[in-house]
Amino acid sequence: MVVVVDTVSATPLRPRHPEKVNRPDALSPPKPDWIRVRAPTTRGYADTRAIVRENGLVTVCEEAGCPNIGECWDKKHATFMIMGDTCTRACAFCNVKTGLPGALEADEPEHVAEATFKLGLAHIVVTSVDRDDLADGGAEHFAKTIRAIRARCPATSIEVLTPDFLRKDGALEIVAAAKPDVFNHNLETVPSRYLSVRPGARYFHSIRLLQRVKEIDPAIFTKSGIMVGLGEERHEVLQVMDDLRSADVDFLTIGQYLQPTRKHHAVMRYVPPDEFAGYEKVAYTKGFLMVSASPLTRSSHHAGDDFARLRAARAAISR
Ligand code: SF4
Repeated sequence: MVVVVDTVSATPLRPRHPEKVNRPDALSPPKPDWIRVRAPTTRGYADTRAIVRENGLVTVCEEAGCPNIGECWDKKHATFMIMGDTCTRACAFCNVKTGLPGALEADEPEHVAEATFKLGLAHIVVTSVDRDDLADGGAEHFAKTIRAIRARCPATSIEVLTPDFLRKDGALEIVAAAKPDVFNHNLETVPSRYLSVRPGARYFHSIRLLQRVKEIDPAIFTKSGIMVGLGEERHEVLQVMDDLRSADVDFLTIGQYLQPTRKHHAVMRYVPPDEFAGYEKVAYTKGFLMVSASPLTRSSHHAGDDFARLRAARAAISR
């Protein structure tokens, strides 16, 4: 039996995914040449790591084993994951630890704001684990974090990447009322793959969440992303684009799924770069203001530069 070992936390022998430990290994094909990443060894990386540690913060960059960490942290771009490092869901693609999370830390919003200040970020992305155990799914904590960053770093634009708040009535409204600049919620995959990839979520609910944000506050940019290589068909990706446009979503990201461990969903296929370029082209024709599609695209990758482009694109069409 293979044990999935926690490589991030200080208790390395705790299985990171107890629910996956007894699953058979899922074998993925070898990585192609176009999936190449820089090893995280630079001074900028070390500085970012120090600020994250000093403030006792968790990042999705580390927890999800993101391939872009060397590049992003070198530029002091980190995505903070609030409400702990343990998720109440157990998606088949995700490397974040599964289990029962601890209590919320009341001063976490201030710590995130302080780290944003110290990193000198013009744009910050804040995400979280799923907190199905909390009555509001963690919505108020998200809102407090947005307000704390606004107070400490008024010039910084704020992007939230939220869970789906399934069965948490009123949660989404709490986050939207705090007025993030970008509200991101990832669909992750096409609807036909939900049961295998994202079994705790509902495709229509996620689409509706994004649509609702726009209804509440049309000034907030909405954003969503999917991974490819999970067994989806091209026509299904195009359908997702149409569904997102029906919900008035502004920004689409598409990246290659990479398998965190052999206990996770297998990579069914490495999508070549020219297919990503094709997706990007089609998505623009469907009316997205911004599209980022490439093998290493992740929702928070280059998020600051993309936000500037997003704003410029909106300004251009409203002239
Ligand atoms: S792409 Fe996002 S999650 Fe990955 S290292 Fe960069 S900021 Fe972190």
